[in-house]
Amino acid sequence: MQVLVIGASRGIGLEFVRQYRQSGAQVVATARSEEALATLRGLGATALKLDVADTASASGLAWQIDGHVFDRVIINAGIHGTRTKGLQTPPQDEFDAVMRTNVLGPMRILPQLSDYMAPGARLAILSSRMGSMALRDSTASWLYRASKAGVNSVLRDASLALQGRVICVAFHPGWVKTDMGGSGADLTVDESVAGMRGQLSQLTAADNGAFLNYDGQPLAW
Ligand code: NDP
Repeated sequence: MQVLVIGASRGIGLEFVRQYRQSGAQVVATARSEEALATLRGLGATALKLDVADTASASGLAWQIDGHVFDRVIINAGIHGTRTKGLQTPPQDEFDAVMRTNVLGPMRILPQLSDYMAPGARLAILSSRMGSMALRDSTASWLYRASKAGVNSVLRDASLALQGRVICVAFHPGWVKTDMGGSGADLTVDESVAGMRGQLSQLTAADNGAFLNYDGQPLAW
């Protein structure tokens, strides 16, 4: 099995690399820092330098993965932003950074992938339940929520474009103990990623375009 993980320096992305390597898969993983690239190489992954928020860096993905045919693609890179509280207008630079990373990032990566995925491959974007409009129960993190609602739309369009060839899903990974999720979160990265890997293996064509919890429960958009 060949796996591509975009944004794998730490947290959920790094755990995908660990678990897929443990299962014997060939893994290509991206990170931004030399230190993270070395960590990925130490796990036996092919490490590529890539910043989804940088036009030149992100647009070079296709030539970096030439020759690969992936069975799994995980688009994981994401940021939350730290300065936008409640319903305050976000500072322009924070709005730009969150939207550029969480929405434009996948829009830069997805168009480059279609020649590099095996028939029946599974593609997952790490979204969030916080992006759901149907399940909205708080106004906290409205910038992050807007970005994840945006990437949910992106995933739906990708699922139409790739229909019949690739099964595409948006995942809520649960509330996970990472730098973003914090130490008080419910799940370890191990539990969350094991759940999502299991779900990816079980998907059928009918699941294309679904929004799923890490344990496979469907979520309302
Ligand atoms: P972390 O903050 O722990 O890790 C974020 C990852 O994204 C890092 O590898 C980081 O790389 C990478 N990244 C950020 N910006 C860029 C960029 N411009 N280019 C490339 N990589 C980038 O977050 P988590 O592991 O917790 O989250 C992973 C995904 O899951 C995110 O999309 C997040 O929104 C989503 N999620 C997480 C939840 C949780 O409870 N943890 C809940 C719901 C969704 P670097 O080290 O270089 O910064």
